[in-house]
Amino acid sequence: MPQRIESESRKLLGRLRDAMAKDSAGQARLDEIVHLIAKSMLTEVCSIYLFRDTETLELCATEGLEADAVHQTRMRLGEGLVGRVARTKRIVNTADAPSAKGFRYMPETGEERFSSFCGVPVQRLGEVLGVLVVQSRDAREFSADEVYALEVVAMVIAEMTELGIFLGDGAALSARHQQPVMIQGTVGQEGAVQGNVYLHEPRVVVTNLISDDPDGETARLREAVDTLRISVDQMLDQTKKLDTDQAEVLQAYRMFANSRGWMRRMEADIDSGLSAEAAVEKEQSLARSRMNQSGDAYLRDRLHDLDDLSNRLLRILTGQGKDTGAEMPDNPILVARNIGPGELLGYGKSIRGIILEEGSVGSHAAIVARAWAIPLVIYAKGILTEALNGDAVLVDGEQGIVHLRPDDAVQAAFRDKIAMQTRAQERYASIRDLPAQSKCGTTIGLHMNAGLMADLPSLAGSGAEGVGLFRTELQFLIRNQMPKRGELSALYARVMDAADGRRVAFRTLDIGSDKVLTYMKPNDEPNPAMGWRAIRVGLDKPGVLRMQLQALIRAANGRPLTVMFPFIAQMEEFRDARAEMDKAMERERILGHPLPEKIEVGAMLETPSLAFAPETFFQEVDFLSIGGNDLKQFFFAADRENERVRRRYDTLNVSFLSFLEQIIARCDASNTPLSFCGEDAGRPIEALCFAALGLRTLSMRPASIGPVKSLLRRCDITAVKAVIDEARERGDQSVRGAMSDWLREQNS
Ligand code: PEP
Ligand code: MG
Repeated sequence: MPQRIESESRKLLGRLRDAMAKDSAGQARLDEIVHLIAKSMLTEVCSIYLFRDTETLELCATEGLEADAVHQTRMRLGEGLVGRVARTKRIVNTADAPSAKGFRYMPETGEERFSSFCGVPVQRLGEVLGVLVVQSRDAREFSADEVYALEVVAMVIAEMTELGIFLGDGAALSARHQQPVMIQGTVGQEGAVQGNVYLHEPRVVVTNLISDDPDGETARLREAVDTLRISVDQMLDQTKKLDTDQAEVLQAYRMFANSRGWMRRMEADIDSGLSAEAAVEKEQSLARSRMNQSGDAYLRDRLHDLDDLSNRLLRILTGQGKDTGAEMPDNPILVARNIGPGELLGYGKSIRGIILEEGSVGSHAAIVARAWAIPLVIYAKGILTEALNGDAVLVDGEQGIVHLRPDDAVQAAFRDKIAMQTRAQERYASIRDLPAQSKCGTTIGLHMNAGLMADLPSLAGSGAEGVGLFRTELQFLIRNQMPKRGELSALYARVMDAADGRRVAFRTLDIGSDKVLTYMKPNDEPNPAMGWRAIRVGLDKPGVLRMQLQALIRAANGRPLTVMFPFIAQMEEFRDARAEMDKAMERERILGHPLPEKIEVGAMLETPSLAFAPETFFQEVDFLSIGGNDLKQFFFAADRENERVRRRYDTLNVSFLSFLEQIIARCDASNTPLSFCGEDAGRPIEALCFAALGLRTLSMRPASIGPVKSLLRRCDITAVKAVIDEARERGDQSVRGAMSDWLREQNS
């Protein structure tokens, strides 16, 4: 940057800071800013346009255009050159504005006298707040240095806008951050809740934007970057041995932290008069707008890494930790990009709802949210840029919709929804101790799925007859190291105590696929859902399985014990697993520990192959439980974690129902007790169809027991079977349509 521009820009920023220090009203400050910029840049016009609402820009101050046009001239996003800058987030620099694409003449401004035009977006962290424009009579393009100086000034204006300096009320609200916003995400956990935003990682607040001590600021920046590099290296050392994905991200962090280009740009920003923090934010903001525009997923990920790294650097520079002092509001709704189960558990059950910008249905956070029965919306794109701490928010977990800063009409409709939900809960509570008996007299056993200690109170509260699936891996997932045998055995004993004689089916460790233990050697597989997971790991490396079986026997301490093995694909695997159980019993007997008075050993039916296993398998296994989540993904060859294909195939598809019917028939013929414990068991219509096909035991999330029981008690399942058969005969692809019609008739 030439020396003149550099010092001019620094002088300009210095004057801006002095202007801001005066105790003048918001408008007077804006007026002074445009005056100072025009004078320093030697242009006839300087104007600031700010968003009035998300779609409309308003001329808020001008030097050189007609004064009467201020607060009168408005344009829509995308309209005219100013609207184009705001929409594209790109600079427009032209010597001949009237001929430029999109030009729109605003007669009240008197701008026809000016030929050249340079507009730069006023943006903070990738979000456009307005547009800064300079215009002059002579037809010339503005030089790169002048454009750069304007960008620096625009950045300072953005910060001031965000800090409410122009609003004069000290409120950190841009116009945009006052508007209601609706975000359509994906359902992670049903339920409706009203609350206030609580950001998992609040924004860093930068108040010192301008500095006239470039050497001091550069030294601060370098020192902070050194600290950052050291911390990234340390993180990398700790993670390298464990988790390749995380190590890859950290490698990218290190690359950026050592990037000379990044450093050079920030140092140039400081030379032009910004503080170290403001320089970091300026580069972060540019990276964010590129991130939002890039169609390349890899590049987006890398820019995303740079964004995270900039946040870390800002925290070092400002000394603001994750906790920036924001108090947890009433009814907190946690908003995060992503969150691990450990962090979520750390917040405790005071959290009323969760909104994630990313996340996934099968993520561990989703599992915890389900266990707590708090509404969760995932893939809420844009929530992190839109939401501010304390904002009112409605989480509609039924539809996967988030209403941020809702208006009165939305709030009223939502209150009705919550009231309906409460009435339904009261209805479910009133039938809690009644059996799930259909109108035709068939009783279905309703059990619950569990895995966390937080689930235990639901045993009594939900009316569950027992635990049909205890996912033991959750206890492994929420730890940073392998749990010890004694610890596990104490934990399983607490589960059995809470069950108070009711049956608990402990499923042995089901890791692999999306369930990755950070403290176990990573296993790089092209298709982990079909890879080395669950019982395959348990049999190949039996140490953990043996420890777990021993812990279970000791926890039972003479009480009946139920164990099931996950992901059994062929008979031999079950036999080998059962042999491990027998050996564990023998070892415990020799050691003098009491053995369970009764032991049941079953298998999860999660691969289609097991449905066709030899008859002897059905004779040997004590019980089977259909893991519908996995079974369905392999039956339809549709990844359960892939949002694109996950919902493509209906569980009520006649092929799948007929397949289930065959499994039920085989189990009936061999007297093998059978249950269904995938997510579909908790969906009332699906549960009704499963019952009609002959399933007599279902295991589901505790919160689903009420709705499923309520529907079962109102229906005649022999009639449901007739609806299914007719739909099949007609050649329907799914029986959902016929079921919906039938249910409507029943209610009318
Ligand atoms: C299933 O696959 O249906 C199941 C219950 O197991 P998980 O969801 O834990 O894989
Ligand atoms: Mg499974």
